[in-house]
Amino acid sequence: MNANDLPAREAMEFDVVIVGAGPAGLAAAIKLKQIAPEKSVVVVEKGSEVGAHILSGAVIDPIGLDHLIPEWRGEDTPVRTPVSSDRFYVLGPSGALRVPNLLMPPLMSNHGNFIVSLGDVCRYLAQKAEALGVEIYPGFAAAEMLYENGAVAGIATGDMGVGKDGHSKASFTRGMELRAKYTLFAEGARGSLSKVLIERFGLSQDRQPQKFGIGLKELWQVAPESFRSGLVQHTMGWPLSNRTGGGSFLYHFGDNLVSVGFVVHLNYENPYLSPFEEFQRFKTHPLVRNTFAGGKRICYGARAITEGGWQSVPNLVFPGGALIGCAAGFMNLPRIKGSHNAMLSGMLAAEHVAAALAAGRTHDELLSYEAAWRGSPIGRDLWRVRNAKPLWSKLGTVAGVALGAFDMWTNTLGFSLIGTLGHGKPDFATLKPAASCKPIAYKKPDSKLTFDRLSSVYLSNTNHEEDQPVHLIVRDSALQKSSEHDVYAGPSARYCPAGVYEWVEEAGKPRYVINAQNCVHCKTCDIKDPNQNINWAPPEGGGGPNYTNM
Ligand SMILES: Cc1cc2nc3c(=O)[nH]c(=O)nc-3n(C[C@H](O)[C@H](O)[C@H](O)COP(=O)(O)OP(=O)(O)OC[C@H]3O[C@@H](n4cnc5c(N)ncnc54)[C@H](O)[C@@H]3O)c2cc1C
Ligand code: SF4
Repeated sequence: MNANDLPAREAMEFDVVIVGAGPAGLAAAIKLKQIAPEKSVVVVEKGSEVGAHILSGAVIDPIGLDHLIPEWRGEDTPVRTPVSSDRFYVLGPSGALRVPNLLMPPLMSNHGNFIVSLGDVCRYLAQKAEALGVEIYPGFAAAEMLYENGAVAGIATGDMGVGKDGHSKASFTRGMELRAKYTLFAEGARGSLSKVLIERFGLSQDRQPQKFGIGLKELWQVAPESFRSGLVQHTMGWPLSNRTGGGSFLYHFGDNLVSVGFVVHLNYENPYLSPFEEFQRFKTHPLVRNTFAGGKRICYGARAITEGGWQSVPNLVFPGGALIGCAAGFMNLPRIKGSHNAMLSGMLAAEHVAAALAAGRTHDELLSYEAAWRGSPIGRDLWRVRNAKPLWSKLGTVAGVALGAFDMWTNTLGFSLIGTLGHGKPDFATLKPAASCKPIAYKKPDSKLTFDRLSSVYLSNTNHEEDQPVHLIVRDSALQKSSEHDVYAGPSARYCPAGVYEWVEEAGKPRYVINAQNCVHCKTCDIKDPNQNINWAPPEGGGGPNYTNM
């Protein structure tokens, strides 16, 4: 069947449609129903179930939960491991220098926070939402916006059962139109529809470019003697050079579980750098390697995070809807925390949507939400750390982090000596040509502590219907060869944490191979391709990773 012959889509009407069942989307849904139980609210989620695509640290600041579900501490929830010890180290190749907690800006303290699987927290929030009457449709990706008179009027889910060549298979099912008075976009970092909205409505005009990092994570079941319930440990420095921002996290929680992860800022310059291999190298450091002795790696995944903060948050509203959570970029980089702001922004938007609906409004701009966030706890959280990222980018790790910490201290006291710094170039523009960079030699994995990509992707339980159009769209193949390959030596083969991209030699010519079925939906290619030549579009709903406990 050709596109023109497609049957009309069935349409359903709701008061509010929410795209994405992460902490932001679910908090918005719950809040809406708490304020206005009679309003109809639906959440669509591209993962096969709620939590399947959620990947986070995660040490959570419970401020969001406390406001949304004040009774949660008396319930059986997945929020069970309080932080008991909080350590921060600067690493060298074989040594580690612990930064005394007293020197750390108070906002960095994890006292009172909890170590969780954010996926499990989302599963808990989904139960709460459903109990209030929210409809949740997992396995459905929002593939396009619906517009009416220039305003967003809902979304359409993607068609299912379309073959690689674009033709309908026997299993073809037309997508659904979910129409709404207001639509909230809670897709997380680099949301595919949010990106379109930001462009279409010029939401980032007069803002600094959004900055990103890639976060890779493994979940380990460790030997009981290595387990320290509630230990939170962060590092920066080795194995990254002073010019490359990033660092590690290591959290002990639950039943002998350790979440270990590594973030690399995506404004790195050397196209030979591989965030995946840097993460594997990090685990061999004497400070951490014994934690994993006798343990078993049980899950793996990766996801982009937003790092631009205060300066980069776009205008949140447009006719008919708003951005919430990390789709808007509410992540606090120095704290490596975004889930609390995701929830708070979902709740804040919900309050303004509920007020608009109560006033009989529809499809207009929720200007009061945009006006409210900078003066809210979210704004206060991001304001105090606004110079940490630009200083790190400009001055490198040693001087940048030291000055950033000083600025966070002064901001805690209510002032800054440096005002508000800009971020400079967007991340896709920071790679240097390969000819001016040194290749990096990474060691072969030992398959005990360090691993290769493919055995790692296996642990993400990633699954896509193979006979479907490729969801990673290279706009101009000739440009990919002449620039990505010839000038930058094919960085996609290294930044992709799932081994999706490869340049293979065929009859003496390089050919770009895209193993789309391995994609873990981290969105790094959409961010870091030096020509912005790769567009990540949602694959058939339900495809992608199936993370457990991540
Ligand atoms: C490695 C790493 C470590 C982190 N550590 C911490 C930490 O310790 N503490 C902390 O507070 N925060 C941490 N964060 C940040 C935190 O995870 C995010 O701030 C938070 O998850 C953002 O919530 P969200 O609801 O905005 O988006 P997400 O959690 O990303 O959820 C978005 C949801 O929307 C779905 N979705 C996206 N697009 C579509 C679509 N088109 N159609 C249907 N569904 C869609 C996704 O599948 C997903 O389920 C970390 C992040 C990473 C990557
Ligand atoms: S293809 Fe892109 S989105 Fe998918 S895992 Fe690789 S870098 Fe991430």
